[in-house]
Amino acid sequence: MIRDIEDSAAEFMAIRRDLHAHPELSFAEERTASRVAELLEGWGIPVVRGVGRTGVVGILQRGQGKRAIGLRADMDALPVEEHNRFDHASRHPGRMHACGHDGHTAMLLAASRHLALHAEFDGTIVLIFQPAEEGGTGALAMMADGLFERFLWMPSSPRTTGRACLWAALQSARGR
Ligand SMILES: [Zn+2]
Repeated sequence: MIRDIEDSAAEFMAIRRDLHAHPELSFAEERTASRVAELLEGWGIPVVRGVGRTGVVGILQRGQGKRAIGLRADMDALPVEEHNRFDHASRHPGRMHACGHDGHTAMLLAASRHLALHAEFDGTIVLIFQPAEEGGTGALAMMADGLFERFLWMPSSPRTTGRACLWAALQSARGR
């Protein structure tokens, strides 16, 4: 474990629990997206909101390098009733982060913070917070909104429409 991330574990646990308490369904991730965007901006990462409706993209650029990599997490919850009784259980009847997207979002936020504050690299890291993974249309919505052309300088391709959970999409791109 990277020391800096280990040291900030409590902060990201609190973020994860806050997201867990406020689950939002596909394409309704307004609060979640706002939190993500505000946190990224707080770490000095430029952000574009509303990519693929409720998606958020952070752009971390260093040096003159032409290479780019994308890291991706999903943000939506499921129409499921939560029966847990812990403090951060869902405040919204009939909605729950039952697929772990609260964890995925918190993990990518932790990576984003670490990369923004401590990492040395030459190129661009595109931080992709995707809406609507459940149902499988959020990735397509971001691509239709120009995700690859606008941020990764490459044409969209069917190969890039994954819907796996807990993966980080890795895409190297041609120069601009
Ligand atoms: Zn999922």
